[in-house]
Amino acid sequence: MAKEFTDLGGEIQLNTTVTGLAETSQTITAECCHNGERVCYESKYLITCSGLLADRMTKMLDIPTDFQIIPYRGEYYRLSKRHNEVINHLIYPIPDPDLPFLGVHLTRMIDGSVTVGPNAVQGWKREGYGRFNVDLKDVRDMVTFPGFWKVTLKHLGTGLKETWESWRKSGYLKRVNKYCDKITIDDLEPYPAGIRAQAVLKDGSLVHDFCRIIYIGS
Ligand SMILES: Cc1cc2nc3c(=O)[nH]c(=O)nc-3n(C[C@H](O)[C@H](O)[C@H](O)COP(=O)(O)OP(=O)(O)OC[C@H]3O[C@@H](n4cnc5c(N)ncnc54)[C@H](O)[C@@H]3O)c2cc1C
Repeated sequence: MAKEFTDLGGEIQLNTTVTGLAETSQTITAECCHNGERVCYESKYLITCSGLLADRMTKMLDIPTDFQIIPYRGEYYRLSKRHNEVINHLIYPIPDPDLPFLGVHLTRMIDGSVTVGPNAVQGWKREGYGRFNVDLKDVRDMVTFPGFWKVTLKHLGTGLKETWESWRKSGYLKRVNKYCDKITIDDLEPYPAGIRAQAVLKDGSLVHDFCRIIYIGS
């Protein structure tokens, strides 16, 4: 993809953080930090794909929004090698229409191994993948956002169950055994977690796909 993009005249700047955005009726300027140096890019249009930091990017433009990104960790295990042939394709649980999470599922990976997961537990650092990672700014943003408390209280039962099973491997195993009763606790090997960038509205609704913001600047 990168090659196709550059072949068509595109330029990719790695190690570059967008630190500020300014818009006029004609142009948009992105102020960036590249290897410690300030660089500015000017353009007619801007598309950002900033994942866990999407709301902060919107704030740089002072666009009033009623959503915030809340991080939810998704923890996985890899099955021991002897189970590499246990499935041929993805096996999902029946989805809960109230929640945008897919539930613990079995996935055959490109290298032939099989993973189980993810669960959904509260994350305390947006880009922190370790179980004990905490970022005070992320926590402050979260606890001062009314949507966080509303969504947490609404799904308290599910949240506590997920957290309990995250600490107790046997609870997690029970879910896997629903599809695959051959798996035992010793088959669950460590595997890296992911962090979902869940957009949550002020009223506590979880945004399932896209969040449309219509903003007419002054
Ligand atoms: C546990 C888990 C399970 C998932 N399961 C599925 C699944 O089964 N099926 C599915 O389709 N999807 C799934 N997803 C979702 C999928 O992984 C994400 O939707 C997808 O990776 C998002 O891609 P993205 O490019 O939008 O964001 P990201 O991959 O998060 O990329 C955002 C990028 O923006 C950069 N960035 C942010 N701020 C700045 C800044 N100021 N300056 C410069 N760069 C910046 C970040 O460094 C990052 O590189 C899952 C995600 C998780 C965490």
